[in-house]
Amino acid sequence: MSLKTTHITSPIQEVDLSLFGIHGYSLFVKREDLLHPFVSGNKFRKLKYNLLRAKEENYETLLTFGGAYSNHIAAVAAAGKEMGFKTIGVIRGEELESKISENPTLSFAKECGMKFLFISREAYRNKDNQSFLDSLIKNTGKSYIIPEGGSNHLAVKGCEEILDDHTKRFDTICVAVGTGGTIAGLINASEEHQDVLGFSALKGNFQTSEIKKYTAKTNYSITDAYCFGGYAKIDPKLIRFINEFKEKTAIPLDPVYTGKMMYGIFELLKNEYFKENSCIFAVHTGGLQGIAGINKKLKKKNLPIIE
Ligand SMILES: *Cc1c(COP(=O)(O)O)cnc(C)c1O
Repeated sequence: MSLKTTHITSPIQEVDLSLFGIHGYSLFVKREDLLHPFVSGNKFRKLKYNLLRAKEENYETLLTFGGAYSNHIAAVAAAGKEMGFKTIGVIRGEELESKISENPTLSFAKECGMKFLFISREAYRNKDNQSFLDSLIKNTGKSYIIPEGGSNHLAVKGCEEILDDHTKRFDTICVAVGTGGTIAGLINASEEHQDVLGFSALKGNFQTSEIKKYTAKTNYSITDAYCFGGYAKIDPKLIRFINEFKEKTAIPLDPVYTGKMMYGIFELLKNEYFKENSCIFAVHTGGLQGIAGINKKLKKKNLPIIE
């Protein structure tokens, strides 16, 4: 993982919409999923300045939070290993402690050297509470704390670097939204003529208050219309779409974030939501490490899996 302060950039790939029977628009995908084999997509962007800060301040340990299939946990474990930090993952759900070997994300993080602290869902709700964090650090020792999902000012600064001179020509910038940190960076770096459209991976659009912490600009909107009922909720229609999209474009999508975003973009294209001849830019934020864990769950339920 190169944390040089020079900008790194990922390729932009055009999707041939005529393969899907859609005409009159163009769609380009920013392949942030290709930035790094394990610290993929927006998590690379969000960690970059945080890890530089942690090095500057001579921290030896990174401590962060996440759930069973968290892309962020996998990214912190891999980036920590590569950058010479010890890592501690505070994991939501005590029952997972005995299931590490069945869980591809936690197994991967463990292989990278991450130590875990499994806590109840109740205790996990305190994850942003300073006295809870103080008590954690008392037990674990001095650590650089990265919040769940990795969103803070330094993360937003890193996400601003997703956009550059090559992305100025696009009309609408689309991205999947979890905590809102990534979209905040995109909004900050967007041009006046550009709209930023966020596809929430969760129900509700509570992220707006988070976004307002990082930007005063208002050229954005967020929809939860394509979250398929909530975070990590998956139905066969979504899986079929992800498989068809990959077959036609060779671009893999994850089922929690980028699959739902792309599904939403296609619905909006079919409904003629975008201005005629619009040039749409979709940020592929990565998350492909999560596919293995979700497929395991789908197989157990005898549902179609992601190919
Ligand atoms: C974490 C994640 C997001 C959400 O990013 P936020 O900054 O929390 O909004 C989107 N896509 C993928 C693949 C992610 O892993």
